[in-house]
Amino acid sequence: MRPANQVFANLGTTIFTVMSSLASEHGAINLGQGFPDDEGPDDVRAVAAKALIDGPNQYPPMPGMPALRQAVAATNKRFYGLDVDWQKQVLVTSGATEALNDCLLALLNPGDEAIILEPAYDSYKPIIEAAGAKVVSVSLEPPLWSLQLEKLAAAFTSKTKLILLNTPMNPTGKVFTRAELDAIAALVIKHDAYAVCDEVYEHLVFSGHKHIPLMTLPGMTERCVRIGSAGKTFSLTGWKIGYVTGPEHLMAPIMKVHQFVTFTTPPATQTAIAFGLAKDDSYFDGLASSLEAKRDLMAKGLEAAGFDVLPTDGTYFISADFRPLGFNGTDEEFCRDITIKAKVAAIPLSAFYANPSTAPRHLARFCFCKQDAIIAEASARLLAYAGRK
Ligand code: PMP
Ligand code: GLN
Repeated sequence: MRPANQVFANLGTTIFTVMSSLASEHGAINLGQGFPDDEGPDDVRAVAAKALIDGPNQYPPMPGMPALRQAVAATNKRFYGLDVDWQKQVLVTSGATEALNDCLLALLNPGDEAIILEPAYDSYKPIIEAAGAKVVSVSLEPPLWSLQLEKLAAAFTSKTKLILLNTPMNPTGKVFTRAELDAIAALVIKHDAYAVCDEVYEHLVFSGHKHIPLMTLPGMTERCVRIGSAGKTFSLTGWKIGYVTGPEHLMAPIMKVHQFVTFTTPPATQTAIAFGLAKDDSYFDGLASSLEAKRDLMAKGLEAAGFDVLPTDGTYFISADFRPLGFNGTDEEFCRDITIKAKVAAIPLSAFYANPSTAPRHLARFCFCKQDAIIAEASARLLAYAGRK
């Protein structure tokens, strides 16, 4: 029999599914895969429920329901001062996962190079490779995940088509600074490249930090596409609604990919997210501050158990060095061990590296968008595991 597509046939199952299955097999608290343990805002779900009954329930327009495209354009203006034409510059997708696929397939040709910053979300590499392009990875240095500009500059070549920038960044919680973004923008312009900006955690940023879309920098409006996710912004990860904003010349091919990947996304949830995006600032501020309190609670629990906790300024995630607990195995072994013995699941950081042999092997990622009582129970279990009861 002839082989299937070599990119996908050789892939394992994503680490998020692997760890969630192990967590459920062992009855562990799942701090692995990133999803909140509440149901999301009641009012947004009520709008979806009504829209499901009232309709429409047939195919929405291919680029998305007008109300949602208008709402996405309005939030670009409200939060970042961006002027966006909702008819030509906004696309609604089935999650940011589809948006990433659409953007990368639309922009890359075989032989192009795409730069990713590691640790990187695990779907980037296979999509880039499926487009026939080459992944060029630049690693950030723990514990502060600093970006070494000389290393980044050296990664750009005449074949560089784009850089994939994830800020706020999963799994590190790093929020890129204006100075870092200026340097990235200068390289993108110098090499006549594009930037695909994965900004799914745009509203999950903590005190003292600010999310700045690369698109807002001088010269970048024409070179960036920006991806958001209602899953993260409304704690509704199962709804799979994403949105892409970008200049018309890039959105046109991206919409062509979308029309043959999903064509469209369910209408009732689109209507509800249009309602959600129009909520006042207190909703968005409240989301970030409630997560920040959970970040602090989780950090305290991990510290009490003896971990060296890394800073995190946004997202759902916090990373911790487990070596002070006296565990000498790899990060994968550690995450399996705590899932089975402490009954708390986490994600090994090395899963976010294209080549695990270049990855740090001493860090685990814990997801803290959980009820306070769950964070407290997980912390108590880890304390007991560490023998410090
Ligand atoms: N990018 C990053 C960095 C993520 O963490 C996620 C989380 N799932 C996604 C994209 C995909 O988002 P969605 O669930 O909207 O497809
Ligand atoms: N983004 C989520 C995380 O990093 C996982 C999404 C998924 O399971 N595909 O945990």
